Amino acid sequence: MNSPIPISDEHGRVHDYLRISLTERCNLRCFYCMPEEGIPSREKSVFMRREEILDLSETFVSLGVRKIRLTGGEPLIRKDARQIIEGLSELPVELGVTTNGVLVDDFIETFKRVNINSLNISLDSLRSERQGLISRRNYFARIMANINLLLKIGVEVKINAVIMKGVNDDEIIDFVRWTKDIPVHVRFIEFMPFLGNNWDWKKKVSFDEIMTTLGSGYSTEQIQPLPEKPNETAKNYQIDGHKGTFGIIGAVTNPFCSSCNRIRLSADGRITNCLFSNNKIDLLTPLRNGEYVEQLIRKSIWNKKAERAGIESFEFLEPGYKNRSMVAIGG
Ligand code: SF4
Repeated sequence: MNSPIPISDEHGRVHDYLRISLTERCNLRCFYCMPEEGIPSREKSVFMRREEILDLSETFVSLGVRKIRLTGGEPLIRKDARQIIEGLSELPVELGVTTNGVLVDDFIETFKRVNINSLNISLDSLRSERQGLISRRNYFARIMANINLLLKIGVEVKINAVIMKGVNDDEIIDFVRWTKDIPVHVRFIEFMPFLGNNWDWKKKVSFDEIMTTLGSGYSTEQIQPLPEKPNETAKNYQIDGHKGTFGIIGAVTNPFCSSCNRIRLSADGRITNCLFSNNKIDLLTPLRNGEYVEQLIRKSIWNKKAERAGIESFEFLEPGYKNRSMVAIGG
């Protein structure tokens, strides 16, 4: 069988990693992601049904996609999430899930069955009360228990922690200390501007600031850079002698777009070529009309800007720049 013509953009980047948002709903209300008032609920019919997710995924795989990550909202709250995971596991792809960790214990057997051996868990504080303030819900104990459960059964756990000034930036060293005896991979994420999250340049903690903070706790010799992996978003490090690692995802001050291979499909079946792009192409309507969507996919990706949807600097964002809420994009 001929290998498919890869999905490329005009900058020569091959796109083989699809992030699918299963739902805009979530059982948490993290203030950097979900506006306090939540997002307006919409008719069920505007969202992809299970068979449509599987159908579109098959099309993407036929165009060279090799990795699929399920996101949301919270993907595991979708009633048929289990069936979707099982359906996608039939495809020749590496399957991953980004979750807030609350419902993980309900999915352990499913993850084992379909060989999901790495999970990304969003956790922004190691303090129960503070995690409660950030997420506006109190599931800290259950999330920590689920992280330990996953580690116990040998699942790789990556922790996504959004660092915000005056909120949790005093925990940077605590998170890295956690990696001493616990083999977790902590990724510090720079706070990014999305609709409804009151973002401000002054509230982000930059890559350099995070490294400076760590420099006050560890010597340069102790902070060992790790080899870069292709298409990697984080710059990764390990403290000498620690079981776990940490990384920094600096989309705001240290973009990593030159090797971007990511395509996003939101829960309403719209493809986006960049996290910061407002340019969405509807795949669901043509799919429901029995039309081919390959050309729409190629068009969306071909027109991708070299970097951050053309945003040169977040410090001087165009007045009126509006992105969707993180929960609607799916991260
Ligand atoms: S900002 Fe856009 S182009 Fe850059 S890495 Fe993220 S998704 Fe890719």
